[in-house]
Amino acid sequence: VSLMLDCQAQITYCNDYLLRLTGWQREEVQGQNWFTLFIPPDAEGPRETFQALLANQPTAWHFDNEILTRTGGRRIIRWNNTVLRSTAGEVIGSASIGEDITESKLAERKIVRLNRVLAVLSGINTLIVRVHTRHELFEESCRIALELGKFKMAWIGLVDRTAMQIVPVTSVGAAEAFLDILKDSLSLNDDTLLERIMPVRAVREKTAMVSNDLRLETTSIYMQDRIARGILSVAFLPLMVADAVQGLFALYSEEAGFFDADEMMLLTELAGDIGFALDHIEKVERLNYLAYYDELTGMPNRSMFLEQVSQRLRLRSGENNRLALALVDIDRFQIINETLGRKVGDDLLKLVTQRMQCSDIVFDAMACVGINCFGLVLLDPGDAQSIAHTLEQLLHDCFTTPFHLNDTDLRMAGKVGVAMYPLDGGDAEVLFRCAETALKRTRGSIEPLLFYAPEMNTRVAAALNLESRLRAAVELGEFVLYYQPKVNLMTGKLTSLEALIRWNDPQTGLVSPAQFIPILEETGLIYAVGRWALHQALEDSQRWRSGGLAHLRVAVNVSPLQMRHRNFIEEVKQAIGDDPQVAAGLELELTESLVMEDVNHSIARLQEIRAMGVTIAIDDFGTGFSSLSYLAKLPVDTLKIDRSFVIEMTEGPQGLALVSTIINLAHALKLKVVAEGVETEEQARLLRLLNCDEMQGYLFSKPLPRDVLETRYLLPPPV
Ligand code: C2E
Ligand code: CA
Ligand code: CA
Repeated sequence: VSLMLDCQAQITYCNDYLLRLTGWQREEVQGQNWFTLFIPPDAEGPRETFQALLANQPTAWHFDNEILTRTGGRRIIRWNNTVLRSTAGEVIGSASIGEDITESKLAERKIVRLNRVLAVLSGINTLIVRVHTRHELFEESCRIALELGKFKMAWIGLVDRTAMQIVPVTSVGAAEAFLDILKDSLSLNDDTLLERIMPVRAVREKTAMVSNDLRLETTSIYMQDRIARGILSVAFLPLMVADAVQGLFALYSEEAGFFDADEMMLLTELAGDIGFALDHIEKVERLNYLAYYDELTGMPNRSMFLEQVSQRLRLRSGENNRLALALVDIDRFQIINETLGRKVGDDLLKLVTQRMQCSDIVFDAMACVGINCFGLVLLDPGDAQSIAHTLEQLLHDCFTTPFHLNDTDLRMAGKVGVAMYPLDGGDAEVLFRCAETALKRTRGSIEPLLFYAPEMNTRVAAALNLESRLRAAVELGEFVLYYQPKVNLMTGKLTSLEALIRWNDPQTGLVSPAQFIPILEETGLIYAVGRWALHQALEDSQRWRSGGLAHLRVAVNVSPLQMRHRNFIEEVKQAIGDDPQVAAGLELELTESLVMEDVNHSIARLQEIRAMGVTIAIDDFGTGFSSLSYLAKLPVDTLKIDRSFVIEMTEGPQGLALVSTIINLAHALKLKVVAEGVETEEQARLLRLLNCDEMQGYLFSKPLPRDVLETRYLLPPPV
């Protein structure tokens, strides 16, 4: 191309090549302004370069720019420019020789682009080998697209067939607002929009959708927004797994014409690779799931369960750690399977699973360890009886309501086998086998629950037996109160009594409270029995008083459960009635731990009780040290030093110092101090030295039945 312009950029000469290239006739261009006719209005540089050339600046000698053809097409010309001078030497215009480099320029750009796409492809291919999750795969793919592919933005969406939508899950370079618009627009249902939305078409038609110049798109909506964001071309690549579109990879470029045939070939390959990776990840997940979960119930399976048990044992392999491993199955499940079919059997298992998961009982592990076999773990499970109790509660929750299956109500029963750590074995496998054995034994037995170790079963049986006998005892009134005197340490005189309950069991004789109070508490019988003890003690002390006998305060023990009960204060009030003398004859003994559990609440309740004229003693003081600092705040009257301290007192200086401290502290707080379980003269002597007020113990008297007490201490000696 050759071209001459005057100083006003009017064309003074051009060759035929330029005319052929641009499609103009010579007459049409001769004398016309070069810039008006040939230079795109948006082009930056050509005008400035022309001025620089006239000013004779060397930078203007070589220059590339686009020129317009008559029809609006563009060519890229590489110019060599010189100035034209008159003979007098003044600048009169320019002369340029140019070469059409359009093709090579485009080829160059294309190579750059292809290289970028190739970099993305290989980046994603190395990625595929090392990612393990869908999330990672998507995040990294988008990141690579931006970093190596120099795309302006990228996102990956998953096709949600239930909602009939494409849901963007990962995006890079896209603003929140953009994604919001996107989310609204990706419904696969809306047929009116369908044809106009490229991503939706890409999913529906299972092919890549491309626009290489959004400025030319009239059928796709949302394009103006993209252009405003500096995006000129877009591609939507469906991600296929097993011939179904699972997702969509969207790429946005600032360049027009980015996605031509060669790029698309690479990008399609890329989409195929991501699809492959997706498939792989899914298969691995499925395998993992099958390896560790039961398909039918969705619970952990046997291997996972054993692993969980081992882990619990590893973490807790200490001296006192105990664990119960239970296996539960549905009794006669096989019959359901055989008569009603596998499907009903499966549904039954699912229902049992649901009920197990909805039960209030919380297990430390729960699994489906075989067809019709559930595994459970209880950490720190308590004694044989409470384990049995918990598991029977579970059976109750799972099996009491009939199962509505096949249009009938099926009544099923569950059976349980239990193994104990460390009693039955030290590792998960062994415990599992023991539980299995125990479960097998239930089949020939009427027992729904059996432990592996026979002695555990005996214990449960004994406890159960005890429980039912105690229930009867409450009804038959087989409880009696014994009274143990407390005496003044200085004078040796009887000051008060503690009521201690006994069970007069017709089978075995007198039973001590240590053996049955825990069961009364566990079964809730304690409320009735506690109420009885309170009334009995008051009745006895009334009798002594009206018989003109020494008026002695009687202390009654109160279980934490009673104390926590809402109605307790009211019950005490009713029991003492209006007679202040009655209240003055009563003391309540509460354990230290109970009082400390919720100090503020306790303080309020204790104040209410004392307001009635009843006094309060802290029992077993010293077994829970926490209270020393709170003691000052507590509205109590008496402190009973636990028997263990009285024993230690004579065994060394530390024990002695401790009891001395307690006594001094209590006295400072104006509390009376009673030493419990005094058995020897030596103990009594020391307590006297330490200024302890009263003592209670075998040294003076064991707890005595009412009539013995009356004849020995309360009635005047017979004449
Ligand atoms: P506690 O309140 O600490 O009662 C003192 C226990 O020590 C009584 O045991 C008593 O017989 C025993 N004891 C007294 N002096 C001596 C001694 O010198 N040496 C020895 N070794 N022991 C002595 P008991 O009667 O077997 O009562 C045990 C626990 O049962 C009581 O401990 C109390 O916590 C509970 N208890 C007793 N009666 C009732 C009751 O009516 N209601 C409630 N909730 N608990 C009660
Ligand atoms: Ca007591
Ligand atoms: Ca005590």
